Amino acid sequence: MKYVYDPVPSRRLGQSLGIDPIPLKTCNWNCVYCQLGRTVPLVNERADYFPPREILAQLEEALATHETSEIDWVTFVGSGEPTLHASISWLIRQVKALTDLPVAVITNGALLYLPEVRTALSAADAVMPSLDAGTPELYRQINRPHPDITFERLVGGLIAFRDEYQGKLWPEVMLVHGLNDTEQALRDIATVFRRIRPNQVHINIPTRPPVETWVQPPDEEALMRAQSLLGDVAKVVSPVEGSFDLSGYEDVVDAVVGVITRHPMSEEELKRTLAQWASGEVSQALAELEASGQAQVVERYGMRFWTAAPGHYPDQARSQRTAPGRRRHK
Ligand code: SF4
Repeated sequence: MKYVYDPVPSRRLGQSLGIDPIPLKTCNWNCVYCQLGRTVPLVNERADYFPPREILAQLEEALATHETSEIDWVTFVGSGEPTLHASISWLIRQVKALTDLPVAVITNGALLYLPEVRTALSAADAVMPSLDAGTPELYRQINRPHPDITFERLVGGLIAFRDEYQGKLWPEVMLVHGLNDTEQALRDIATVFRRIRPNQVHINIPTRPPVETWVQPPDEEALMRAQSLLGDVAKVVSPVEGSFDLSGYEDVVDAVVGVITRHPMSEEELKRTLAQWASGEVSQALAELEASGQAQVVERYGMRFWTAAPGHYPDQARSQRTAPGRRRHK
C-alpha cells in the first residue's frame, strides 16, 4: 500500500509531499463537490486505518530520495478525512522530528471540536480546514455531514482551535454556483470567519470532476463578490494550479495512475501533463487502464475527466465502480 506520494504541485502549498493516512473516501462528510465520488457510507470513527509505522517508513524513504529543495511542504491530505486516523498526532510529531520542512494538514475540520484532535494538529505549521457555509442549512446542503458533526460543533471546534493554535490557520471556501456564492451566503460565511479569526482565507472553485452532476463553479462576478466580502475578514488567496513533474516516472501507465489517483483531471489537461510521452502511447495507456478497471471517465462541464476507480459517481455504470485497487482531495 502506498501512503506517501512524490512532491506534486499543490494549489495552495507549492510542491507538496503528500501523506495519505486514510483509505479512499473514509470521511465524515459527503460534499456535493467532492472529486473522489460519494462517501458510502459516512464514517466518523477514529482508528489506525493503516499502520502508523509503515506510513512513517515510507516517509523516511521519500525524504531520502528527494532533495529538500524539491519540497515546499509535507502535507497530510487524505483520500478521505485525515484526522480520522487515530495516530495523526504521533505521525505529525514524528514528521517534525525527521525534517525541518514545514508540515500542513488539509482537513475538513469536522473533528476539531474534540480536544485530542486540536492537540494533534497543534504541532502542524499550517492547518487548512474547510468552511463552505455560514448557516446550518447550507452546511447540511453542501457538506452533507455525519449526523454527529453538527454546524455548532464544526464552528465551535474551529473557534476553540484558533484560541489555542499559534500556527497558520488557512481555511478554504469551495464556492459552488447558486449555493454559497450569493451575497447573503458569503456574508454569513464572513460572519463566522470573524469569530474564527483565520490568518488567510483561501477561495477555491470546483475545477476537478464534482461527484454531483449539477455542481457548477461560480461565475466571474460571484468570484469577485467572494473576494470582496471575505477579504474584509482576512487576506484572500485564490489558488493557482502548478504543473506536475513526472520526470520520476519511466512508464506512462504508472504516471497516469500516479496522477489521477489523487488528482482527477480533464482529458485535455492529462494529455498536456503527459506531453513527454508520444500521444499514441498515452491513448493506449488510457484505454488499457479503462478496460482493466483501474481508471474511469466521468463527464462534467461537457468534458471528460479521468479519475481512478472505484470512486462512487452517481451517473457511472455500476460495472465501472467495482474495479480493483485505487486510492486517492481537496
Ligand atoms: S471533499 Fe474532502 S471532506 Fe468533502 S467528502 Fe470529499 S474527502 Fe470528504
